[in-house]
Amino acid sequence: MFVDSHCHLSFPELHGRIAELRAEMAAADVDRALCICTTLEEFPTVQALATSYDNFWCSVGVHPDNEGVAEPTVEDLVERAALPRVVAIGETGLDYYRLAGRTVAQMEWQRERFRRHIRAAALTSLPLVVHTRSASEDTLAVLREEGAGRVRGVFHCFTETREVARAALDLGFMISFSGILTFRNADELREVAREVPLDRCLIETDSPYLAPVPRRGKTNCPAYVPHVAAKLAEIKGLPLADVAAATSANFERLFGLPALKAVPP
Ligand SMILES: [Zn+2]
Ligand SMILES: [Zn+2]
Repeated sequence: MFVDSHCHLSFPELHGRIAELRAEMAAADVDRALCICTTLEEFPTVQALATSYDNFWCSVGVHPDNEGVAEPTVEDLVERAALPRVVAIGETGLDYYRLAGRTVAQMEWQRERFRRHIRAAALTSLPLVVHTRSASEDTLAVLREEGAGRVRGVFHCFTETREVARAALDLGFMISFSGILTFRNADELREVAREVPLDRCLIETDSPYLAPVPRRGKTNCPAYVPHVAAKLAEIKGLPLADVAAATSANFERLFGLPALKAVPP
C-alpha cells in the first residue's frame, strides 16, 4: 500500500473527478492521500475532501506563489488547523523562481507569510509542508530563525542539492520525492535520494502536475505515486514493498495518523 503525501485534488484539472480518482487509487494500491491547501479561499473545498473520505486528510496554508489572495494571519491558520482532518500547516515556503522583475529583497512579503505559517505550526504542533524553489538558502534561514527545534515537517517535491537535503534533515524534517525522481535529466536528484535515509523519505505526486515516467505529460493523480516509490526502490536497491511500508510508516509518524490496515470502500 502506498501513500500520496501531497496532492491538489481541488485544482481545476482534477475537480469533479473524485470518484474516478479514488477508483484508480484503489486499483493501484494507493490507500491514502494528503490534500494540500494553497489558499484560504480553497480551504473549505480541500477540507471537505478530507471530511468526506476517511483515507483523505488535508492541510491549511497559502502557497508562496499565490498573490492577490487572502493573506493569512497566524490566527487564520491556527483556527482552521483545529478543524477535523487538518493534519498539517502548508504548503508554505519561498519561491523566487518567478520574481517577475522583482528583486529578492522585494519578496519580504513571502518571507513574512512563511514566518506566520511557521508560528502557526509551532502553536499547533502540526508539521509544516515546505515548498522551496530557487530560494533554498532563505528557506533554511527563515526556518532556523523561526522554528529550529520547535517545528517539524517535510520539504515537499524535493529538487535541491545534497547540502540542502542534509540541512533539512538536520532540522528534523523529512524529504518528499515526486515524479521528478523518474525524469531522465534528474541524475543529481537521484544521487540525493540515495543518501536520504529511508526512514526520512516520503513520496508524493503533487497532482495534477509532474506526472512520473511512464505517465509523463499526462494529468498526474494519486494513483501514479507507486511509480515514484518504484524509482526510489531502484535507487536504493530495495524491494518495492520495503519502500512502500517505510514511506507509509513515515507518513503516519509525521502527520500523527494511525496505521491503516485496509482500504475503506
Ligand atoms: Zn509546492
Ligand atoms: Zn503542491
